[in-house]
Amino acid sequence: MNTLIAQCAQQVLDGASLDRSQIERLGQQSKEALDDLLYHANRIRQHFFGSKVRVCSIVPGRLGGCDQDCAFCAQSVRYDTPIDKKAQTLTDEQILSAADQACDNKVPHLGIVYSGKTITEKELARLESLIRRIRTEYGIGVCASLGIINIDQAQRLAAAGVTRYNHNLETSERHFGKIVTTHTYQDRVRTVEAAKQAGLGVCCGGIFGIGESESDRIDMALELRHLGVDTVPMNFLHPIPGTPLAGSSTLCPLEILRIIALYRFILPKTHLKVAGGRVLNLRDMQSWIFYAGCTSILTGNYLTTAGRDAKDDFQMLKDLGLEVA
Ligand code: SF4
Repeated sequence: MNTLIAQCAQQVLDGASLDRSQIERLGQQSKEALDDLLYHANRIRQHFFGSKVRVCSIVPGRLGGCDQDCAFCAQSVRYDTPIDKKAQTLTDEQILSAADQACDNKVPHLGIVYSGKTITEKELARLESLIRRIRTEYGIGVCASLGIINIDQAQRLAAAGVTRYNHNLETSERHFGKIVTTHTYQDRVRTVEAAKQAGLGVCCGGIFGIGESESDRIDMALELRHLGVDTVPMNFLHPIPGTPLAGSSTLCPLEILRIIALYRFILPKTHLKVAGGRVLNLRDMQSWIFYAGCTSILTGNYLTTAGRDAKDDFQMLKDLGLEVA
């Protein structure tokens, strides 16, 4: 048994946070220590979350047509990708139908996701009434991901019944400028703070496999810990033809499991949600994410790539003895 990993795990289980040098040393352990890292990450998950797992799905309320330049994103008009350059906005009926489908699939949370830097007043007003309808007619939780918002907009979403706001940091502040130049890391941090101030839960994480270093990954985790987010979506690059990251190689499954486990040590009480890139990158090892410390999954399709059928995911959870929270 690796002593350093076991000691760090005990410290976390005792309720104390790891400091940066401990985290760095955890990340530097040899490949042979991966079994120990996963074993203890799983203990930490079981200690703080038991057998409960959160499941959510998303609907792209507005797809494509974005003038921003996030280097991994198929929805930017700056890149020649398979997504239409003209934004496609779903009608009320289409979004309600997605809520209906989430209900049928017994998925308790639906995220409405909009492409673009921010949202217009007209769209926000439409969504306020739509969100109220979803809450009363379907009874499921509604999350929103509408880009950069201010405190007033966050308060209106909270009043309409949104439970959680999603806005990702994507990576470390140092690496951010290599991935996005049309808005800043601080824009994103301010949005997270606005959502928190409005009393919304915050779903905030990033994407891995975009040329970031181990140090960037640790920086982002520490920033998320500092911000006090309650859910960290972990996306793993699915290179999209036409984007600047099209030629990137994907992360191997064992590296993905190692990153999840490291995050479980750093953020022991925070939900870790494995989202985009799960199917492509993990292949037959998808069920291992829970052993690495994951407590939440995004089921169904992702924004621009195919995901997995909810019934297959629910079967996987049942086979693992896990329950939907
Ligand atoms: S991630 Fe969001 S803001 Fe960035 S290009 Fe894609 S849709 Fe636009």
